[in-house]
Amino acid sequence: MALTTIATYRCPGCGRVWQADRPLWRCACSSHLNLAPGPGLARGEIAANEASLWRYATALALRGSPRISLGEGWTPLVTRNWRGVEVRFKLESQMPTGSFKDRGTAVMINHLLEVGVGPIHEDSSGNAGASIATYAAASGIPCRIYVPATAPPGKLVQIAVSGADVRMVPGSRQDVTEAALGASGDTGYGSNILGLDRGFDELERSGEITARPRLFAIQAANCAAFAAAWEAGEDRFVPFAALPTIADGIATPKPVRMAEVLRAVRRSKGSVVAVGEDEIVPALSALGRLGLFVEPTAATAGTALTRLLADGTIRPEQTTIVVLTGTGLKAAERIGELLGVGGGQ
Ligand SMILES: [Zn+2]
Repeated sequence: MALTTIATYRCPGCGRVWQADRPLWRCACSSHLNLAPGPGLARGEIAANEASLWRYATALALRGSPRISLGEGWTPLVTRNWRGVEVRFKLESQMPTGSFKDRGTAVMINHLLEVGVGPIHEDSSGNAGASIATYAAASGIPCRIYVPATAPPGKLVQIAVSGADVRMVPGSRQDVTEAALGASGDTGYGSNILGLDRGFDELERSGEITARPRLFAIQAANCAAFAAAWEAGEDRFVPFAALPTIADGIATPKPVRMAEVLRAVRRSKGSVVAVGEDEIVPALSALGRLGLFVEPTAATAGTALTRLLADGTIRPEQTTIVVLTGTGLKAAERIGELLGVGGGQ
């Protein structure tokens, strides 16, 4: 059964609504576009025999069975003891390409197959680039990825193996630094926060939940656009000094949907937490010793958890879920250097 697109875009700038069945980059007013809210999901609409994200297909703006699936979604939720507290970890690191990006990519690629758009050009050398290159290969859509010279080698190999047309972006050292900060920071735009906010919003409207969990957005202090705006009480970009960080996946100097992400965090009564480089490495090690091998970017969540437990923001009896966004296999050599293990130091 083919998918039938029912999605519409809504412009956050002027409110105009557009059909999502044709190529569209921006609104006529030049704003970026967001998908309009979906119908939500009732308990009985879950496809219980489907062990992938397609068990929730009813909640997506697509209908029917996907044309392409690599088994994305339905990742484990495991309980571990963190500093004496029982915490649940959502292992998005176990996705087909090793990061949570496969959720959005799988839906996007099936949408593109439905409306007949291709080829794909993507400027991320990080988890999004690897995910899109892989799913493009699986679906036969030509794909070109632009990457900076400083991109993490493991992620570059992952992109290249898919057969994508990899284009190196030349430039001065400063250009490359800026390109690396911007292009590899593909998980630093707040898409996880926006997705969670949308999902809980739809569940609340469909009557499946009556209370919404707090959302905590974690950043590396070296590159913390959301934290700078949060601390200034602003809902838009506030200039700040960006430095390189070992959390390369969230090194995003200028996120696009700042106001929407900050609004989502505020209405959940959560907060934005910025963590130091020297705090990330111990969390990376502690996660590893719990059997949770993640990339440095994902370890920032462990760092923030330690702090939020210590200052009483999160109480031990509360249910806490830590989303681990990417596998350590993407950055094994770098992790070896950081922790002084594996002979790579
Ligand atoms: Zn508009």
